[in-house]
Amino acid sequence: MDEFDVVVVGGGAAGLNAALVLARARRRVAVVDGGEPRNAPAERMHGFVSRDGMDPARLLEVGRAEVVGYGGELIDGRVTRIDTGFTVHLAGGRALGARRILVATGLRDELPDIPGLRERWGRDVLHCPYCHGHEVRDRPIGVIGGLAADVALHLALILPQWSPDVVFFPNGIELTADERERLTARGVRIAAGRVSRLVVHDDALRGVELADGVVVPRAAVFVGPLFVPHDELLTGLGAEVDDNGWVRTDGTGRTTVPGVWAAGNVANPRAQVVTAAGEGSAAAIALNTDLTNDEVERAVRDQRAAGGPFAASVHG
Ligand SMILES: Cc1cc2nc3c(=O)[nH]c(=O)nc-3n(C[C@H](O)[C@H](O)[C@H](O)COP(=O)(O)OP(=O)(O)OC[C@H]3O[C@@H](n4cnc5c(N)ncnc54)[C@H](O)[C@@H]3O)c2cc1C
Repeated sequence: MDEFDVVVVGGGAAGLNAALVLARARRRVAVVDGGEPRNAPAERMHGFVSRDGMDPARLLEVGRAEVVGYGGELIDGRVTRIDTGFTVHLAGGRALGARRILVATGLRDELPDIPGLRERWGRDVLHCPYCHGHEVRDRPIGVIGGLAADVALHLALILPQWSPDVVFFPNGIELTADERERLTARGVRIAAGRVSRLVVHDDALRGVELADGVVVPRAAVFVGPLFVPHDELLTGLGAEVDDNGWVRTDGTGRTTVPGVWAAGNVANPRAQVVTAAGEGSAAAIALNTDLTNDEVERAVRDQRAAGGPFAASVHG
């Protein structure tokens, strides 16, 4: 079995940045990646200074080459289980030994079940104004409610910053008088009734069709997905989750399981690419410190066993 100081599960921005920092710290690090980053449907990535407008796949390609350049190992595959100690099991039977674990497996966006919506995801069906609001500025924008009512309402209230033409489709959300007042005060129009489908022509969104057959022309729609973390490996190891169902971590990503860290969307639904990369870096530095602490303890024990301490002199 191959042995590593750290096995990183997930090779998105979080996992790759962690692996880069660890490999540069001369740690033996492997990244196991399933190859399904969350932002894969988007053509461009925004909001990452010096990387704005980059193809998200290109970011990972560059990151992977950097990790390999410092001696990190990249393994394409899926981790199915991690045993304490740690043994990392991959689909297909390979197992890796690790002194520490970083889980950076991201999350899944659960979308409202509306015909046409999933197919347009990341193109003209969006969820993050900071990622793609600028690209649809001043266009006719819709906000469709459905799963996360609070997120949909928040989107409807902030999107007028990007366009004066915003229509809110509650799609089953019961609006209070207060919410209605706030939306109309922001200039947001409300289209009552269930959404039956998205109207798409020539590979572009044209409108939102309501159950009564009325089509409201729109160039882009925003939805509030349910964020479902890929945290089975962490909970399988016994990691505690908070009241909202997210794995509990400290400021460096350390979970409640000794030796196990988490970074990026798996524990933080708000992490953008730049945030996920930063969390990966912070986790890597904490992991390296944790490994170093172990090594210092062991060295002290060995020195005492040999009759030390011995004075270390620079004069030889
Ligand atoms: C459509 C869309 C567009 C977006 N656009 C932007 C944008 O413009 N700017 C921005 O900052 N953010 C954007 N985001 C958010 C961005 O996707 C996340 O911030 C980012 O992907 C989080 O990085 P991560 O490393 O935590 O997870 P991910 O990038 O999702 O990477 C996780 C990796 O772990 C792998 N994995 C999962 N489980 C396993 C397993 N068991 N074994 C092995 N590998 C596993 C996955 O295959 C994946 O490759 C967008 C999101 C979406 C949905």
